[in-house]
Amino acid sequence: VAKEAGRHTYRVFQPEMDRRNADYVWLDTNLRKALAENHLMLYYQPKLAGRTGEVDSVEALLRWRSPERGLVCPSIFIPYAEESGLIAPLGVWVMREAARQAAAWKRDGLNIRIAVNMSARQLDDKGVVSDFMRAIGDAGLDPCMLDIELTESCLIDDEGAAIDLIKQFRQLGARVHLDDFGTGYSSLSQLARIPLDAIKLDASFVRGVNENPVSQALARAIVAVARTLELKVIAEGVETAEETAFLDTLGVDAKQGYLYAKPMPASEFTTWLANRRRLHLIA
Ligand code: C2E
Ligand code: MG
Ligand code: MG
Ligand code: MG
Repeated sequence: VAKEAGRHTYRVFQPEMDRRNADYVWLDTNLRKALAENHLMLYYQPKLAGRTGEVDSVEALLRWRSPERGLVCPSIFIPYAEESGLIAPLGVWVMREAARQAAAWKRDGLNIRIAVNMSARQLDDKGVVSDFMRAIGDAGLDPCMLDIELTESCLIDDEGAAIDLIKQFRQLGARVHLDDFGTGYSSLSQLARIPLDAIKLDASFVRGVNENPVSQALARAIVAVARTLELKVIAEGVETAEETAFLDTLGVDAKQGYLYAKPMPASEFTTWLANRRRLHLIA
Protein backbone atom coordinates (compact mmCIF):
# COMPACT_ATOMS: atom_id res chain seq x y z
CA VAL A 1 0.00 0.00 0.00
CA ALA A 2 2.77 2.38 0.98
CA LYS A 3 4.57 1.44 -2.24
CA GLU A 4 1.46 2.08 -4.32
CA ALA A 5 0.96 5.44 -2.65
CA GLY A 6 4.66 6.27 -2.88
CA ARG A 7 4.62 6.35 -6.64
CA HIS A 8 2.40 9.39 -6.56
CA THR A 9 2.97 12.78 -5.09
CA TYR A 10 -0.24 13.46 -3.20
CA ARG A 11 -0.47 13.41 0.59
CA VAL A 12 -2.97 11.84 2.92
CA PHE A 13 -5.91 14.16 3.35
CA GLN A 14 -6.03 15.70 6.81
CA PRO A 15 -9.47 16.75 8.09
CA GLU A 16 -8.04 20.05 9.28
CA MET A 17 -6.97 20.88 5.75
CA ASP A 18 -8.69 23.88 4.31
CA ARG A 19 -11.66 22.99 2.14
CA ARG A 20 -10.17 25.09 -0.64
CA ASN A 21 -6.98 23.08 -0.46
CA ALA A 22 -6.02 21.56 -3.82
CA ASP A 23 -6.23 17.96 -2.55
CA TYR A 24 -9.70 18.53 -1.12
CA VAL A 25 -10.94 20.11 -4.31
CA TRP A 26 -9.47 17.30 -6.40
CA LEU A 27 -10.98 14.61 -4.16
CA ASP A 28 -14.30 16.41 -3.99
CA THR A 29 -14.73 16.48 -7.75
CA ASN A 30 -13.16 13.16 -8.57
CA LEU A 31 -14.39 10.81 -5.85
CA ARG A 32 -17.99 11.73 -6.66
CA LYS A 33 -17.23 11.01 -10.30
CA ALA A 34 -15.54 7.73 -9.43
CA LEU A 35 -18.67 6.60 -7.62
CA ALA A 36 -20.91 7.62 -10.53
CA GLU A 37 -18.63 6.21 -13.24
CA ASN A 38 -17.80 2.93 -11.54
CA HIS A 39 -14.11 3.53 -10.94
CA LEU A 40 -14.26 1.93 -7.52
CA MET A 41 -13.52 -1.69 -6.86
CA LEU A 42 -13.12 -4.09 -3.99
CA TYR A 43 -9.96 -6.03 -3.35
CA TYR A 44 -10.18 -9.14 -1.21
CA GLN A 45 -7.71 -10.36 1.40
CA PRO A 46 -8.20 -13.86 2.82
CA LYS A 47 -8.39 -14.73 6.51
CA LEU A 48 -6.93 -18.13 7.36
CA ALA A 49 -8.51 -20.20 10.11
CA GLY A 50 -6.11 -20.82 12.99
CA ARG A 51 -5.77 -24.56 13.11
CA THR A 52 -6.52 -25.68 9.58
CA GLY A 53 -5.47 -22.71 7.48
CA GLU A 54 -8.84 -23.07 5.75
CA VAL A 55 -10.06 -19.93 3.97
CA ASP A 56 -13.73 -19.33 4.64
CA SER A 57 -13.77 -15.56 4.61
CA VAL A 58 -12.11 -12.51 3.13
CA GLU A 59 -11.99 -8.82 3.94
CA ALA A 60 -13.17 -6.37 1.27
CA LEU A 61 -10.84 -3.39 0.90
CA LEU A 62 -11.90 -0.46 -1.21
CA ARG A 63 -9.76 0.68 -4.15
CA TRP A 64 -10.18 3.56 -6.55
CA ARG A 65 -8.84 3.24 -10.05
CA SER A 66 -8.31 6.88 -10.94
CA PRO A 67 -7.72 7.56 -14.63
CA GLU A 68 -5.41 10.40 -13.54
CA ARG A 69 -3.61 9.02 -10.54
CA GLY A 70 -3.74 5.25 -10.84
CA LEU A 71 -4.73 3.00 -7.95
CA VAL A 72 -5.63 5.14 -4.94
CA CYS A 73 -5.67 3.56 -1.47
CA PRO A 74 -8.40 4.16 1.11
CA SER A 75 -6.08 5.93 3.56
CA ILE A 76 -6.04 8.76 1.02
CA PHE A 77 -9.75 9.12 0.39
CA ILE A 78 -11.67 7.59 3.33
CA PRO A 79 -10.77 10.46 5.69
CA TYR A 80 -11.92 12.90 3.01
CA ALA A 81 -15.11 10.89 2.41
CA GLU A 82 -15.87 11.00 6.12
CA GLU A 83 -15.31 14.73 6.28
CA SER A 84 -17.48 15.45 3.26
CA GLY A 85 -20.25 12.96 4.02
CA LEU A 86 -19.55 11.02 0.84
CA ILE A 87 -18.81 8.02 3.08
CA ALA A 88 -22.56 7.27 3.22
CA PRO A 89 -23.08 6.54 -0.51
CA LEU A 90 -19.59 5.01 -0.66
CA GLY A 91 -20.50 2.65 2.18
CA VAL A 92 -23.71 1.64 0.43
CA TRP A 93 -21.73 0.91 -2.73
CA VAL A 94 -19.31 -1.28 -0.75
CA MET A 95 -22.12 -3.30 0.88
CA ARG A 96 -23.91 -3.81 -2.42
CA GLU A 97 -20.75 -4.81 -4.29
CA ALA A 98 -19.65 -7.19 -1.53
CA ALA A 99 -23.13 -8.77 -1.41
CA ARG A 100 -23.14 -9.14 -5.20
CA GLN A 101 -19.69 -10.78 -5.12
CA ALA A 102 -20.53 -13.17 -2.29
CA ALA A 103 -23.70 -14.21 -4.14
CA ALA A 104 -21.75 -14.71 -7.37
CA TRP A 105 -19.19 -16.90 -5.57
CA LYS A 106 -22.02 -18.86 -3.99
CA ARG A 107 -23.44 -19.58 -7.43
CA ASP A 108 -19.98 -20.83 -8.43
CA GLY A 109 -19.99 -23.16 -5.45
CA LEU A 110 -17.67 -21.04 -3.30
CA ASN A 111 -18.93 -20.44 0.21
CA ILE A 112 -16.84 -17.42 1.16
CA ARG A 113 -18.01 -14.81 3.65
CA ILE A 114 -17.01 -11.22 2.97
CA ALA A 115 -16.24 -8.68 5.70
CA VAL A 116 -16.95 -5.04 4.93
CA ASN A 117 -15.35 -2.17 6.83
CA MET A 118 -17.59 0.49 8.33
CA SER A 119 -16.45 3.74 9.84
CA ALA A 120 -17.99 5.81 12.62
CA ARG A 121 -19.69 8.27 10.29
CA GLN A 122 -21.53 5.44 8.53
CA LEU A 123 -23.09 4.31 11.78
CA ASP A 124 -24.38 7.83 12.42
CA ASP A 125 -26.64 7.27 9.45
CA LYS A 126 -29.72 5.59 10.90
CA GLY A 127 -30.49 4.02 7.54
CA VAL A 128 -27.37 1.86 7.67
CA VAL A 129 -29.17 -1.31 8.80
CA SER A 130 -31.86 -1.04 6.12
CA ASP A 131 -29.16 -0.29 3.51
CA PHE A 132 -27.43 -3.47 4.65
CA MET A 133 -30.66 -5.49 4.45
CA ARG A 134 -31.47 -4.12 1.03
CA ALA A 135 -27.96 -4.91 -0.29
CA ILE A 136 -28.32 -8.50 0.88
CA GLY A 137 -31.90 -8.87 -0.30
CA ASP A 138 -31.18 -7.50 -3.77
CA ALA A 139 -28.22 -9.86 -4.15
CA GLY A 140 -30.29 -12.81 -2.93
CA LEU A 141 -27.66 -13.47 -0.27
CA ASP A 142 -27.93 -15.07 3.15
CA PRO A 143 -27.08 -12.28 5.65
CA CYS A 144 -24.67 -14.56 7.50
CA MET A 145 -22.39 -14.26 4.44
CA LEU A 146 -21.49 -10.62 5.17
CA ASP A 147 -19.34 -9.78 8.19
CA ILE A 148 -18.86 -6.25 9.49
CA GLU A 149 -15.61 -4.71 10.73
CA LEU A 150 -16.04 -1.68 12.96
CA THR A 151 -13.24 0.49 14.27
CA GLU A 152 -12.99 1.51 17.89
CA SER A 153 -13.91 5.07 16.89
CA CYS A 154 -17.43 3.75 16.28
CA LEU A 155 -17.78 3.19 20.01
CA ILE A 156 -16.58 6.45 21.51
CA ASP A 157 -19.32 8.96 20.70
CA ASP A 158 -22.41 7.07 21.69
CA GLU A 159 -21.73 3.60 22.98
CA GLY A 160 -25.41 2.86 23.52
CA ALA A 161 -26.30 3.66 19.92
CA ALA A 162 -23.38 1.57 18.66
CA ILE A 163 -24.46 -1.40 20.79
CA ASP A 164 -27.98 -1.07 19.44
CA LEU A 165 -26.77 -1.15 15.82
CA ILE A 166 -24.43 -4.07 16.48
CA LYS A 167 -27.36 -6.01 17.96
CA GLN A 168 -29.46 -5.29 14.89
CA PHE A 169 -26.72 -6.47 12.51
CA ARG A 170 -26.17 -9.62 14.55
CA GLN A 171 -29.89 -10.36 14.70
CA LEU A 172 -29.82 -10.39 10.92
CA GLY A 173 -27.09 -13.04 11.11
CA ALA A 174 -24.04 -10.89 10.34
CA ARG A 175 -20.92 -11.26 12.47
CA VAL A 176 -19.46 -8.08 13.88
CA HIS A 177 -15.73 -7.66 14.44
CA LEU A 178 -13.87 -4.86 16.18
CA ASP A 179 -11.02 -3.76 13.88
CA ASP A 180 -7.50 -2.66 14.89
CA PHE A 181 -8.18 -3.61 18.48
CA GLY A 182 -5.76 -2.10 20.96
CA THR A 183 -4.83 0.97 18.95
CA GLY A 184 -7.81 3.19 19.68
CA TYR A 185 -9.61 4.47 22.70
CA SER A 186 -11.71 1.52 23.70
CA SER A 187 -10.88 -0.27 26.89
CA LEU A 188 -10.88 -3.86 27.97
CA SER A 189 -13.83 -3.18 30.26
CA GLN A 190 -15.76 -1.72 27.32
CA LEU A 191 -15.15 -4.94 25.44
CA ALA A 192 -17.32 -6.71 28.01
CA ARG A 193 -20.28 -4.45 27.16
CA ILE A 194 -20.14 -4.59 23.37
CA PRO A 195 -21.89 -7.61 21.82
CA LEU A 196 -19.18 -8.64 19.35
CA ASP A 197 -18.19 -11.85 17.60
CA ALA A 198 -14.48 -11.15 17.34
CA ILE A 199 -11.72 -8.64 17.78
CA LYS A 200 -9.01 -8.05 15.22
CA LEU A 201 -5.71 -7.85 17.05
CA ASP A 202 -3.80 -4.99 15.52
CA ALA A 203 -0.58 -5.72 13.66
CA SER A 204 1.39 -3.50 16.04
CA PHE A 205 1.16 -6.21 18.72
CA VAL A 206 2.87 -8.85 16.65
CA ARG A 207 5.31 -6.72 14.67
CA GLY A 208 8.83 -7.85 15.58
CA VAL A 209 7.57 -9.99 18.47
CA ASN A 210 10.93 -11.59 19.08
CA GLU A 211 12.55 -8.28 19.97
CA ASN A 212 9.57 -6.92 21.84
CA PRO A 213 8.53 -8.68 25.05
CA VAL A 214 6.11 -5.85 25.90
CA SER A 215 4.03 -6.37 22.72
CA GLN A 216 4.10 -10.09 23.44
CA ALA A 217 2.72 -9.57 26.92
CA LEU A 218 0.03 -7.19 25.65
CA ALA A 219 -1.04 -9.57 22.89
CA ARG A 220 -1.18 -12.43 25.35
CA ALA A 221 -3.29 -10.38 27.78
CA ILE A 222 -5.71 -9.23 25.06
CA VAL A 223 -6.19 -12.79 23.82
CA ALA A 224 -6.79 -13.98 27.40
CA VAL A 225 -9.48 -11.34 27.93
CA ALA A 226 -11.09 -12.16 24.58
CA ARG A 227 -11.23 -15.85 25.54
CA THR A 228 -12.90 -15.01 28.83
CA LEU A 229 -15.49 -12.91 26.99
CA GLU A 230 -15.95 -15.69 24.42
CA LEU A 231 -14.77 -13.49 21.58
CA LYS A 232 -12.81 -14.85 18.65
CA VAL A 233 -9.45 -13.29 17.84
CA ILE A 234 -8.31 -12.52 14.31
CA ALA A 235 -4.69 -11.38 13.96
CA GLU A 236 -4.11 -8.84 11.22
CA GLY A 237 -1.02 -7.64 9.36
CA VAL A 238 0.96 -10.89 9.74
CA GLU A 239 4.15 -10.53 7.71
CA THR A 240 6.70 -13.05 9.00
CA ALA A 241 7.03 -16.69 10.03
CA GLU A 242 8.12 -15.54 13.51
CA GLU A 243 4.91 -13.57 13.93
CA THR A 244 2.86 -16.59 12.85
CA ALA A 245 4.71 -18.88 15.24
CA PHE A 246 4.01 -16.52 18.12
CA LEU A 247 0.33 -16.19 17.16
CA ASP A 248 0.05 -19.97 17.03
CA THR A 249 1.29 -20.19 20.61
CA LEU A 250 -1.55 -17.81 21.54
CA GLY A 251 -3.99 -19.94 19.57
CA VAL A 252 -5.66 -17.14 17.64
CA ASP A 253 -8.72 -18.15 15.63
CA ALA A 254 -7.66 -16.64 12.31
CA LYS A 255 -4.73 -14.84 10.70
CA GLN A 256 -4.48 -12.37 7.89
CA GLY A 257 -1.51 -10.61 6.32
CA TYR A 258 0.95 -10.22 3.49
CA LEU A 259 2.69 -13.42 4.59
CA TYR A 260 -0.32 -15.33 3.22
CA ALA A 261 -1.79 -13.01 0.63
CA LYS A 262 -2.13 -9.35 -0.22
CA PRO A 263 -5.54 -7.88 -1.01
CA MET A 264 -6.41 -8.75 -4.62
CA PRO A 265 -9.18 -8.42 -7.19
CA ALA A 266 -11.92 -11.09 -7.03
CA SER A 267 -10.69 -13.09 -10.04
CA GLU A 268 -7.14 -13.18 -8.68
CA PHE A 269 -8.47 -14.33 -5.32
CA THR A 270 -10.35 -17.28 -6.78
CA THR A 271 -7.24 -18.35 -8.70
CA TRP A 272 -5.17 -18.03 -5.52
CA LEU A 273 -7.73 -20.07 -3.60
CA ALA A 274 -7.93 -22.81 -6.23
CA ASN A 275 -4.12 -23.13 -6.31
CA ARG A 276 -3.94 -23.22 -2.55
CA ARG A 277 -6.61 -25.90 -2.24
CA ARG A 278 -4.95 -27.98 -4.96
CA LEU A 279 -1.56 -27.80 -3.22
CA HIS A 280 -3.12 -28.78 0.09
CA LEU A 281 -4.81 -31.79 -1.50
CA ILE A 282 -1.54 -32.96 -3.04
CA ALA A 283 0.48 -32.42 0.14
P1 C2E B 1 -8.14 -2.14 7.95
O1 C2E B 1 -9.58 -2.48 7.86
O2 C2E B 1 -7.47 -2.33 9.26
O3 C2E B 1 -7.43 -3.00 6.83
C1 C2E B 1 -6.12 -3.51 6.91
C2 C2E B 1 -5.16 -2.70 6.08
O4 C2E B 1 -3.85 -3.25 6.21
C3 C2E B 1 -5.44 -2.72 4.59
O5 C2E B 1 -4.97 -1.48 4.04
C4 C2E B 1 -4.58 -3.87 4.11
O6 C2E B 1 -4.26 -3.78 2.73
C5 C2E B 1 -3.37 -3.69 4.96
N1 C2E B 1 -2.65 -4.94 5.21
C6 C2E B 1 -3.12 -6.21 5.16
N2 C2E B 1 -2.16 -7.11 5.49
C7 C2E B 1 -1.05 -6.38 5.75
C8 C2E B 1 0.30 -6.73 6.15
O7 C2E B 1 0.66 -7.90 6.32
N3 C2E B 1 1.17 -5.70 6.32
C9 C2E B 1 0.81 -4.39 6.15
N4 C2E B 1 1.75 -3.46 6.34
N5 C2E B 1 -0.44 -4.03 5.77
C10 C2E B 1 -1.36 -5.01 5.59
P2 C2E B 1 -5.88 -0.64 3.02
O8 C2E B 1 -6.51 -1.58 2.05
O9 C2E B 1 -5.03 0.46 2.50
O10 C2E B 1 -7.00 -0.06 3.94
C11 C2E B 1 -6.70 0.86 4.96
C12 C2E B 1 -7.89 1.14 5.83
O11 C2E B 1 -8.90 1.83 5.10
C13 C2E B 1 -8.58 -0.11 6.37
O12 C2E B 1 -7.88 -0.60 7.50
C14 C2E B 1 -9.95 0.43 6.69
O13 C2E B 1 -9.95 1.05 7.95
C15 C2E B 1 -10.15 1.48 5.62
N6 C2E B 1 -11.02 0.92 4.57
C16 C2E B 1 -10.71 0.12 3.54
N7 C2E B 1 -11.79 -0.18 2.80
C17 C2E B 1 -12.84 0.46 3.39
C18 C2E B 1 -14.24 0.54 3.12
O14 C2E B 1 -14.78 -0.07 2.19
N8 C2E B 1 -14.99 1.31 3.97
C19 C2E B 1 -14.44 1.97 5.05
N9 C2E B 1 -15.23 2.69 5.82
N10 C2E B 1 -13.13 1.89 5.33
C20 C2E B 1 -12.34 1.16 4.52
MG1 MG C 1 -10.71 -3.99 8.43
MG1 MG D 1 -7.57 -3.59 10.65
MG1 MG E 1 -4.67 -2.41 11.75
